[in-house]
Amino acid sequence: MNAGLDTLRLISGVGRKGPACFVVETGGKRLMLDLGEGPPPGLLPNVENLGPLDALVLSHGHKDHVGGLSLLAKLGNPPVYATDIVARGLPKGLPVRPLPISGTSEVLGIEVTTGRNGHAPGGVWLHFAIGDGFLYTGDFSTESILYAYEPPTKAAAIALVDCSYADYDRTIGECWSALEPFAERGPLLLPVPANGRGPEIALEFLRYGRTDICVDDAMNRALRQLCTTDTASVRADVDDDLKALAVTAKPIDGAQGIMLAASADGTSGASKALLERWEHASEPAIVFTGYRAPDTPADRLIKNGRAHFVRWNVHPRLADAVALARDVKAKTVIPAFCDRSHFDALAHAFAPAQVTMDGPVKL
Ligand SMILES: [Zn+2]
Repeated sequence: MNAGLDTLRLISGVGRKGPACFVVETGGKRLMLDLGEGPPPGLLPNVENLGPLDALVLSHGHKDHVGGLSLLAKLGNPPVYATDIVARGLPKGLPVRPLPISGTSEVLGIEVTTGRNGHAPGGVWLHFAIGDGFLYTGDFSTESILYAYEPPTKAAAIALVDCSYADYDRTIGECWSALEPFAERGPLLLPVPANGRGPEIALEFLRYGRTDICVDDAMNRALRQLCTTDTASVRADVDDDLKALAVTAKPIDGAQGIMLAASADGTSGASKALLERWEHASEPAIVFTGYRAPDTPADRLIKNGRAHFVRWNVHPRLADAVALARDVKAKTVIPAFCDRSHFDALAHAFAPAQVTMDGPVKL
């Protein structure tokens, strides 16, 4: 009845790399999608003039999607919808409401369909039955060897799509080809996110035949959760390998074996201390595999030649993002989580769909 008034506001996360934060206005209700921080620590969406919201819906538990929860008080402390796995990692005391990891439910009377995003434990994409359909992919990957991915199937005239890698198009197989030489050498340290590509990379080294895999406490906890409480996010075909990995992995004890430790950029956690210890040593080899924000240990060690960079795909390649937009029959694509400088390349790739990085967008 209010179809003409349904809009999507791009608060943060479109036009430049920044925290995810979007607001859907429909039928007099206002839903926020994600409320992140970073990647640079402390970078928060500007919510000063938004006023109270009716709900916050979370796609997954990564910091750039949930790290801004301290702003909830400014938004009237709305209920927070999240999958059980994501909810477990949220601060205690939030008014959390359940979101299925796969299936159809209702948020404020709006039909919402979710599916596993192939990216992180508990992570989902979200389809809203608003207008001719609206899809928010959050972060997703079609290539994960560990996390299950279910392609969205419902039509969505408007699609807000993870384009973190812009026009990058290498496969995860090519990523492993670049990483594999390190499996044949001496000790190796991989600073990783424990609730993302960390367990996935460990699994690949196990399958290669390395049994000397060593992990920090965060990775150890993540591996155990993937085998117990987080199985809903795991691909059915990795069950045995994952259990073998959880049993095989030992604590990190000196520079030996394939070591995986959080955090990914070395600013906190066990990897921070290990990098400080080994920055001026010849061993172990150090490989970073994800986005590196300026002024982080990752950035510094890659620039000074001490560490290598080998990307490990956890976001869609351009071909995957384009295929998804075509599959849901998107008429308008809003590329998220990349810089505006990629606009022309993305507009060309998504054609005939129209591409925009400017809100508000009519739903
Ligand atoms: Zn993520």
